[in-house]
Amino acid sequence: MNGSIQKITILGSTGSIGVSTLDVLARHPDRYRVFALSGYRQLDRLAQQCRRFEPVFAVVPDEDSARRLGELLEGSPVRILVGESALAEIASHDETDVVMAAIVGAAGLPAGIAAARAGKKILLANKESLVMAGRVFLDACEAGGATVLPIDSEHNAVFQCLPDGRNCAGVRRILLTASGGPFRLMSLEAMAGVTAAQACEHPNWKMGRKISVDSATMMNKGLELIEAHYLFDVPDTGLDVVVHPQSIVHSMVEYADGSTLAQLGNPDMRTPIAHALAYPERIESGVDMLRLAEIGRLDFEAPDPERFACLRLARDALRAEGAAPAVLNAANEVAVESFLAGRIGFLDIGRLNERVLGRLGGDAAGACLDSVLDIDRRARAEARAFVDGACP
Ligand code: NAD
Ligand code: MG
Repeated sequence: MNGSIQKITILGSTGSIGVSTLDVLARHPDRYRVFALSGYRQLDRLAQQCRRFEPVFAVVPDEDSARRLGELLEGSPVRILVGESALAEIASHDETDVVMAAIVGAAGLPAGIAAARAGKKILLANKESLVMAGRVFLDACEAGGATVLPIDSEHNAVFQCLPDGRNCAGVRRILLTASGGPFRLMSLEAMAGVTAAQACEHPNWKMGRKISVDSATMMNKGLELIEAHYLFDVPDTGLDVVVHPQSIVHSMVEYADGSTLAQLGNPDMRTPIAHALAYPERIESGVDMLRLAEIGRLDFEAPDPERFACLRLARDALRAEGAAPAVLNAANEVAVESFLAGRIGFLDIGRLNERVLGRLGGDAAGACLDSVLDIDRRARAEARAFVDGACP
């Protein structure tokens, strides 16, 4: 560290990644200070975080939330800002050094781009923004001089297995591990009837509801293939998935000489968060060391593309490039929302994604933020029509 205290903005501080980030920051008051926080619905939690970490700014979605947060923070100097433009403002503010991008879904993209253009150190948890706008996001990083450090545990593991986090010289394949989710061994017939509560019950990780459903469909691994393609500039043919039910090996890199490097650790997001925060130094994260003798064994198996259609669709989208990844991401967000709301069944998620990808996936890629957002809007409209048709 250069001796000065780093000021951190957390986009999505009330979520699973946001809470883990604050847990790590709280262990290092000599290194980090919270500059700004944002929340969406959980205002009580946001208020508690503001009281404890005393950020300069807190961002909420609308005036009503601002009034309620103001009441909860009576007497506090925290300044409350409203809306998407405020998210971009805290992400690009002169006084912030590091931006944790931990909003879920496409909603996180505009603020992520703002951080990129402003040349921030971006800790990227929001994989959807890379999937929908990979080129646009990376171009903005390059233009602004921003650095991206991956938080997704697989990509953080790959980063740790590459010489300088990015150099893929001599790499034969990047191997992303997948837990297989709660339905790894379930038949398709049984999957047809699973509930949202069952889908959100991940065997190894405690996460937000959207990513939990994505893990259950294995769309999460599909999105991660696309994320890895952009982060490490590796083609589809250089990326593979292996199912590893214990979630101890977080991913691997195979080299031309036959070496395979892996990063291991307990399944706790505070490890990648601490890694990215302090990189290239190492700091304590609160995560226990691995007890391999107690774990005893590590298993690996091939994924099943028949039962996990979403993984296959993400592969198709990655190969097709163009608008396909953005279309698939948008369709999937609508599908997961609709499943969580009880409007469609679990297997309809894959069906909906396939239909929208088939209709719009052949379009050209968005060349700027506005055109990406336009593709996103069109794919959502198509997906909603599917849901309305499925459940009139
Ligand atoms: P979460 O649902 O727990 O939290 C999401 C955060 O985003 C909350 O703070 C919420 O207030 C905010 N938010 C939601 N909708 C919003 C909107 N429309 N506008 C502004 N803010 C909004 O999700 P999470 O599990 O913390 O995941 C966050 C991101 O990190 C996702 O992109 C996910 O894929 C990625 N990620 C999460 C994990 C994990 O272990 N949780 C691991 C790897 C990657
Ligand atoms: Mg992951």
